[in-house]
Parts: sequence; structure tokens; C-alpha cells
Amino acid sequence: APAWPRPPRCRVITVANQKGGVGKTTTTVNLAAALAMHGQRVLVVDLDPQGNASTALAVEHRGDVPSIYQVLVDDLALASIVQSAPDMPNLLCAPATIDLAGAEIELVSLVARESRLKRALTAYNLDELDYILIDCPPSLGLLTVNAMVAAEEVLIPIQCEYYALEGLGQLLRNVDLVRAHLNPQLNISTILLTMYDGRTRLASQVADEVRSHFGDLVLSTLIPRSVRVSEAPSYGQSVMTYDPGSSGAMAYMDAARELAHRGAASPNGHRG
Ligand code: ADP
Ligand code: MG
Repeated sequence: APAWPRPPRCRVITVANQKGGVGKTTTTVNLAAALAMHGQRVLVVDLDPQGNASTALAVEHRGDVPSIYQVLVDDLALASIVQSAPDMPNLLCAPATIDLAGAEIELVSLVARESRLKRALTAYNLDELDYILIDCPPSLGLLTVNAMVAAEEVLIPIQCEYYALEGLGQLLRNVDLVRAHLNPQLNISTILLTMYDGRTRLASQVADEVRSHFGDLVLSTLIPRSVRVSEAPSYGQSVMTYDPGSSGAMAYMDAARELAHRGAASPNGHRG
């Protein structure tokens, strides 16, 4: 596949929405794979104790594997826990193990508890990466705060169904709070509409509502509901390798292309 333009420097993107099941992990993994297939060097940070992103990328995350937990809680270097995703050149993953479930509590008593991930990324050689995608758990706790402090961009997947916008206000307020107190660089850069069912009027109403609210932040690509998308992770594959011709694969490829081309226009500085 042809290479897409590299961003001027590594883009750190947090994929967040405190609702579960809206497509955060699916979006993280498939955007990461699509970017990597087009020559971008990508690191996925799995920040969900469920470890679904690690599973989908076929990366070891049994209990005894060194993981993002030790990075956050024991100051282990990020470089020492990162693994290559098998059969996916350019794609790395910092896995999550189940002990990350305790981190939400353990972090509370640590120094600089909101910026543990930021510190770990700063110590990592970012010149070797074009993208870092952080997959958040379904909450607005300290793990998600760490992801927001470490990133410059927030990508919000929104599922096209009835309660889609409920709770979004809380997420936006949290982004504002993090920007005001912890990370002035943070902005919501991207909204992605997921699990779109074109046969229902409700889905198109939700999509219209999201577009009228967020305007250009919303990618023009809609991710359709597609059974191929939901099957791919159990084979440790992205949907693009699992079934390249499927509607879900083509949509995630288009969404990743949009994301890459938007970021390439970024005005700030250059690498090195
Ligand atoms: P989250 O990380 O926000 O909890 P997931 O990415 O795990 O959400 O998605 C929730 C469920 O929906 C998963 O079982 C996933 O396979 C499925 N899913 C996600 N996107 C799609 C899609 N476009 N079409 C069909 N199923 C999807
Ligand atoms: Mg998830």
C-alpha cells in the first residue's frame, strides 16, 4: 500500500468515551493497523484492564507479562514492555494485564498521579513513532486522566444510537478540566461515528445531530455496523487483514486516511 504523509512529529491521540461498547477499542486497533499498513510507525497503548486491544493485536498479556501497569505504578520504562504486534509491521503495543484494574486505586497515593503516562512517553524515543493511540477504559477515572494528560488530541467514538449524546457533556467537561489544570495542549481533534446502521432513521438522525454539534471535528467517514468488524479480534487481526473487501475494513481505512491527512497539515514545527 502507498505510504501516507507522516505527521511533522509524533501525534498522541487518546481514544476516549466513558461509555462502554461504543467502539473505542475497535477504533483504536483498526485505525492503528490502517496507519501502519500505510507506512506509519504506530504504538497502541492499552489502558483498559480488560486488555481487549492487546487481545485484538495478538499481543501477550497474561498476568505475568510486563505491562503498562508496571509503567504507571512501578516506573518501569515503556520501552521495556512494548511488544511488536505479530504479522503487523510498524505496529507496536504496550499491553494491559488484569492488574491494571487495581491501578485506578493505587495511583491515587502516588506522586504526580495524573502524569505517570506522560512521563513514560516523554522518556520514550518519540522520533521512532508517528502515532500513539491510547485505548481508554470506560470511565473517567485516573487512567483516562493519565491518557488525557499524555495526549494532545482526543478522538471520541460515538455510537449511532439513541443514548449516543448522553454523558458526552461530562466527557467534554473533563477534557476542559484537564486542559485548564494539567495539559493546555489538549484538544478534541476528532469525532468518529461508529456502528452506523444505514437502514434506521434513528442512526441518521444521531449522525446529523452529532455533525451539527461538532461540525468539522466529525470525520466524513461513517463506520458501518458490520459483523466482520466484530469477528476480526478473535482471530487476532484487524478487519483490514481479516476481510479487506468488507464494508467495515474499507470504512476504517477511509477514516484512517482522513485522520492522517488532517494531521499532515499540522502547522507546528518538524521532527528532530
Ligand atoms: P469499547 O472499547 O468502547 O467498549 P468495543 O470496540 O469493544 O467498544 O466494541 C464493543 C462491541 O461492539 C465489540 O464486541 C465489538 O466487536 C463490536 N463492534 C464495534 N464496532 C463494530 C462495528 N462497526 N460493527 C459491528 N460490531 C462492532
Ligand atoms: Mg474497549
